[in-house]
Amino acid sequence: MIDMEERIAQWHYIEHGPDVDAGKTFRKLCEEVGELGEALMLHSKNPAHVAEEAADVAIVLSHIVRAAGSTLFLQMERKLTVLECNSALRRGVIE
Ligand SMILES: [Mg+2]
Repeated sequence: MIDMEERIAQWHYIEHGPDVDAGKTFRKLCEEVGELGEALMLHSKNPAHVAEEAADVAIVLSHIVRAAGSTLFLQMERKLTVLECNSALRRGVIE
C-alpha cells in the first residue's frame, strides 16, 4: 500500500504541483464522499461502482495524510492497533 501511496503522491505532483491547497483538498474530499454516499444509497446493487467511489475517497485521504507528513497505511495500522487493544481490554482478553 505504501507503493500505491507513492504512486498517488507522484500523480498528484504531476497534476497539481508541489503546493497543497487545503481548501481545494477539502472540497475534493467532500465531493468524493458525496459520490460514495450516492453510490451507496442509489447504486447499492452495483458494488463495483461503490468500490470505485470508495477508492476515490482513499486516494484523497492518502494525499491529505501525506501532506501531514505520514502515510495513510501507517496511520490506519496505528489506529487499528489501538482499536484492537481497546477491544481486547473491553473483552478482558488483556489487562
Ligand atoms: Mg468519485
